[in-house]
Amino acid sequence: MTDPSLAPASGHDHSHCVADALARADSLCASRGARLTALRRRVLELVWRSHRPRGAYAILEDLSQQEGKPAAPLTVYRALDFLVEQGLVHRIESLNAYVGCPAPGLAHTGQFLVCESCGNTEEIDDPRIREAIRDGAAARGFRVRLPTVEVRGLCPDCQSRPRPETTP
Ligand SMILES: [Zn+2]
Ligand SMILES: [Zn+2]
Ligand SMILES: [Zn+2]
Repeated sequence: MTDPSLAPASGHDHSHCVADALARADSLCASRGARLTALRRRVLELVWRSHRPRGAYAILEDLSQQEGKPAAPLTVYRALDFLVEQGLVHRIESLNAYVGCPAPGLAHTGQFLVCESCGNTEEIDDPRIREAIRDGAAARGFRVRLPTVEVRGLCPDCQSRPRPETTP
């Protein structure tokens, strides 16, 4: 966590986020009888390197670097599948990337505010949005599988930061 570019926008001690996420994962998996193997735990930690969704390839590279030998892509994908299944991470479809869930114990699908400038992604879980999707779909006889919402825009930090404009 020495790379300053990985620091989340809202200056906080991110090591707490990581420690909390790992502790939650430990207790959640223990209570469910799910096996959080050393590898799965390490992959979760790598997803949590920042609040930006990370692609499987970046995680694979980190893992290979940590282990000093190339990690098998399939192993990483399987670990990510497990983490998604357990609700410990969410897949951001539009970015083809993964982000850690701050509230994995609760059944939710999440809405994501994705900053297009810095990449920070904040999860909100607003029951009104969930209900609106459910009701709107039901009224049209549509069966919802994945009600996840990905909202693009600018986070507060990036709004106050002068943006490098590309002049036409
Ligand atoms: Zn953090
Ligand atoms: Zn979540
Ligand atoms: Zn931002």
